[in-house]
Amino acid sequence: MAFLSIVLDPPTYGWADANGNLSKPTTRQLLQEFFKRLNIFKSKKNWLPLMSWSKVIITIPFLYFFIFEYFSWSLLIVAFLYSMIIMGTHGTVWHHRFCTHNAYAFSNRFWRFITQNLTISMIPEEIYVVSHHVHHAKSDAPGDPYNASGGFLYCFLADVNHQPIAKDLCERDYHRAARLMKHTGVQPNTYAQYLKWGSIANPARTVLAWALNWGFWFGILFLIGGFGLACTVFGAAGIWAVGVRTFNYEGHGKGKDMRRDNYDFSREDMSINQLWPGIVAGEWHNNHHLYPKSARTGFLPHQVDIAWYYIRFMYAIGAVKSFKDSKTDFLETHYNKLALVEHGQAQRLQEDKMLILQKDKG
Ligand SMILES: [Zn+2]
Ligand SMILES: [Zn+2]
Repeated sequence: MAFLSIVLDPPTYGWADANGNLSKPTTRQLLQEFFKRLNIFKSKKNWLPLMSWSKVIITIPFLYFFIFEYFSWSLLIVAFLYSMIIMGTHGTVWHHRFCTHNAYAFSNRFWRFITQNLTISMIPEEIYVVSHHVHHAKSDAPGDPYNASGGFLYCFLADVNHQPIAKDLCERDYHRAARLMKHTGVQPNTYAQYLKWGSIANPARTVLAWALNWGFWFGILFLIGGFGLACTVFGAAGIWAVGVRTFNYEGHGKGKDMRRDNYDFSREDMSINQLWPGIVAGEWHNNHHLYPKSARTGFLPHQVDIAWYYIRFMYAIGAVKSFKDSKTDFLETHYNKLALVEHGQAQRLQEDKMLILQKDKG
């Protein structure tokens, strides 16, 4: 069976029903699966998704202190900018365009490390990267880990229910999965360690990296703006981590065909270009499905792409050594052609009018 069909751990309700259609679990089934797969006492192989959700839970007290102890309008603006733009753009720059799609390459490990840790770490690379390859291979089909046709909760709980890697990969397939992460700097487990922990990431190294990242950012924020600022920003990171789990559902039209003609050019899947995720995080998702390996996805003048500006800036200062940019190709293949067609139609209309006028005169 194809590698991307077996690399993820299938949920109890399966990817597809007997007829090959998407298996749509009930809310109860989804929640049961969710808690079963977070239960570390049942299997320690559940550690990675549990860690990911623990991070979200730990940000709740910070959020509480921000709202009820330190609230001010200026801190609210900080929270808004941090959760929407900074965390959002970082997710695009790091997890999406670099870790998954290799859309650009760093000049050295130092800049990779800086970019990785530019924000408070929330989503483990492994959970995002491996499953996102499957998402592109099986978009909106059974097996897509966040298939929008499965409903909101199907996507919202996907990082636990559908995105972790399978626990029974043979040695060859495990190394293949680990290779998907090679350039990210996440040091993989040996096969023996994988059999014990069920993951590519090593628990000790991952928890240490988490502690160092959070410790560093808490210290810096505390020095800049005291406990109030630190609580605000950590709370904002938690809000982002919840918000981002809704993106995959909405970015694929909430299970409906919401693609617009002459705007959402990728027709192989249900992805759509949305204004808000585009502006705050550079996620022009239909453009991205059209050119997954492009370091830029904002192709049209109004399609602001802050993630791309960061990558381009890093290139300008020598921190990024190469990138792929599909804008010219997009314009030539899709947009200019469309303009030509429209131009041609307008011209034909004009010619028809002239003919009628001439006939009238005659
Ligand atoms: Zn997508
Ligand atoms: Zn992608």
